Amino acid sequence: MVTINVVVVGAGYVGLVTGLCFAKLGHSVACVDVDESKIKALRQGQVPFYEPGLVELLGEQVQEGRISFHTTFPEPTDAAMAVVAVGTPPTPTGSADLTSVFMAVDGLARALPHGAVVAIKSTVPVGTASKLKERLAAQGRPDLRVASVPEFLREGQAIQDVFRPYRMIFGVMDEATEQMLRTVHEGLDAPVVVTDTATAEMIKYASNAFLATKISFINEIANICDRVGADVTQVAYGMGLDPRIGPSYLRAGLGYGGSCFPKDTRALVNIAGEAGYDFQLLRAVVEVNQRQRLEPVRRLKESFGTLAGRVITLLGVAFKPGTDDVRESPAIDLYVALMAEGAVVRMCDPVVRRVRGWISGASKILDVCNDPYLVLAGADAAVVVTEWPEFVALDWRRVARFMRCPVVFDGRNVLKPDEMKMAGVVLLSVGRGCRS
Ligand code: NAD
Repeated sequence: MVTINVVVVGAGYVGLVTGLCFAKLGHSVACVDVDESKIKALRQGQVPFYEPGLVELLGEQVQEGRISFHTTFPEPTDAAMAVVAVGTPPTPTGSADLTSVFMAVDGLARALPHGAVVAIKSTVPVGTASKLKERLAAQGRPDLRVASVPEFLREGQAIQDVFRPYRMIFGVMDEATEQMLRTVHEGLDAPVVVTDTATAEMIKYASNAFLATKISFINEIANICDRVGADVTQVAYGMGLDPRIGPSYLRAGLGYGGSCFPKDTRALVNIAGEAGYDFQLLRAVVEVNQRQRLEPVRRLKESFGTLAGRVITLLGVAFKPGTDDVRESPAIDLYVALMAEGAVVRMCDPVVRRVRGWISGASKILDVCNDPYLVLAGADAAVVVTEWPEFVALDWRRVARFMRCPVVFDGRNVLKPDEMKMAGVVLLSVGRGCRS
């Protein structure tokens, strides 16, 4: 096997896991990040975010001497390939902010040797790779090759997704780039789709938009189930057995969150709009998702009349189990909406310790408790926001005894109605028409 020197720009979820994957495949990897505290932690063998298995993989690869961490580019570097994995957060209009991508590419223009490949892993609007190619040429680096290699990992199972991807998309402008990408990824067993860069960029957005559509679709079905007395969990099971539909992403709940689906769906609506096309379907998906995450407020108001003065415990702050990522988590919107109703809101999560929320126009740091029993004591209602196994496994009989009113809104349909009834819990759920 050929060992390639690779620079990875951005040591967040995507960059770090990608860098470690290339190191494990036998390449020599230098990870660069502008965040000094992140680099300091990584040099000490600490992972600055929660991701199962990553600390062990980091320790292993640092010991093997195949990965190193830097705050600036080694200039010049002998890397034949650079991976750009910096953040592309949404702008206020919903389009992707490419400031970090431009900074990273400009840095690479000064540092990379002749003919190196710049592989863009950040999720970027369709056409960005071509624009970056022009940008590099304008900086006297027409020799650098730009590729679009979108990433599909899921937080919480990032290692598995990167080492055993369902597919690898190589968006390239020439054969030499394809060859380099094939060499660097040698050892990963997955179908490879080689395409032009615009198509690769669109595959990423279309994939996320499709999964988001499945989620909003089943949430709409759930809302109808609630009104007509059907059970959405069985509806989804019955639908998912059809291989044309498939069972995944058909779980009704409080909708999607996280750093990708919300921003990528809005960005694709924008990309379409800029191209003169109204992506009506995806606009509805986004709208349904926003409404769905506030469903507990509506349902709890139905139960209590008013929420003023009611103590409500949110079980789960991370946008999904297995991560401490709180970006666009429904918990934060719920917190704000419940506070606006005059409720007293408590938050609990096994791994998140604090979270930033906008309360009455000001940014505040909110504390998160890690002991569910503590925050459930005396509560009028609880909402399961994140389906952490720890919450499913609670001693609900005990919980029902020390809550002031044992009303639980199961926002992820993970609690068993029969068991909750036996425990003395009044269970509200999404589309199971149930009130046990
Ligand atoms: P992240 O915020 O966790 O990490 C980005 C890192 O880039 C940060 O550590 C930041 O300090 C660093 N950075 C920013 N500007 C820099 C610069 N100029 N030079 C060096 N470092 C810089 O983001 P992430 O979740 O890893 O996402 C990165 C990209 O991958 C985004 O475009 C995202 O949409 C996409 N993506 C994310 C996921 C996911 O699940 N997190 C999955 C697929 C794709």
